[in-house]
Amino acid sequence: MPKNEITFNDEQLLRYSRQIMLPHFGVEGQQQLQDAHVVIIGIGGLGSPAALYLAASGVGSLTLVDFDNVDNSNLQRQIIHNTGNIGDNKAASAKKTLLAINPETTINCIDKKLTLEELNSIISGASCVIDATDNFAARFLINRACVKQHVALVSAAAIQYQGQICVFDLRLENSACYACLYAEEQADNSQENTSCSENGILAPVVGVLGSMQALEAIKLICNIGETLQNRLFIFDALALQWRTIKLNKDPKCQVCSLR
Ligand SMILES: [Zn+2]
Repeated sequence: MPKNEITFNDEQLLRYSRQIMLPHFGVEGQQQLQDAHVVIIGIGGLGSPAALYLAASGVGSLTLVDFDNVDNSNLQRQIIHNTGNIGDNKAASAKKTLLAINPETTINCIDKKLTLEELNSIISGASCVIDATDNFAARFLINRACVKQHVALVSAAAIQYQGQICVFDLRLENSACYACLYAEEQADNSQENTSCSENGILAPVVGVLGSMQALEAIKLICNIGETLQNRLFIFDALALQWRTIKLNKDPKCQVCSLR
C-alpha cells in the first residue's frame, strides 16, 4: 500500500487517538504498529505485560509461544491469566485476554517447545522478538535464531527484587548479541537455577521489565527515540535504581561473528 495512506476507520482512530496525537508518532506510527508482527516467547511474568501493552497499542499481529500451562502459583505476577484459566495452555489463555481487549489483533498461538529450525521459521520476517523466557537455554536458542534472521531482539530477565533488559537490534551489522554478553558455555556449566519458581519474584518487578519490553518493541517498530540498543539496563527494585552498562559486539562471539 502507498505510504501514508490512512487505513483506519473512525472507531480505530478514536481507540488509538492518545497515541496518534503524540509528536513523532501520528497516524504513520499507528500504521507501522498495525503492519507489525511481534513474536513473544514466554507468556509468564514478563510476557504478560508485554503482550497486553502490544495488543492494546494496536500491534496488528502477535505470535505467542509457550508450552506451559497456567498454574495457581503463576497468578501472583502473570497478569494476563486469570483464575478460570488454571490448567489451560498459557498462549491460549493469553489469546483470550488479548482478544477481549483488542478483538482486531491477529494472534497465533504455539503451545510447544521449539527447535532452532522452527524458531528460525517463525521469526523470519518478524518486526521484533520479545524474549520473555526464564532460562539460559531458551535465551541462547532465541538469540541464535534472531542473529540468523537479522531480527531485533528485546531481552529481559527478572528475579527476586531485580531485573535487566537490553535490545539487540540485529538488523544492524554492528549490533552485539546475547552471546556477546553471556558466553553460551558459561551458562551450560552453571548449575545455578535462576528461575522465579526457585528463587521468588516480587510481582511488579516483572511488570516494570515486561512493560519496558513492550516500550522498546514499539520504539523499534516505529523508529522513534533511542532504544536500549547495545546497552544493558539493570534494575534494583529495593533501592529503585537503574544502572546502565554499555555493550560492545564481541568480535570473537561464537554466534554473531560468524553470521
Ligand atoms: Zn554476539
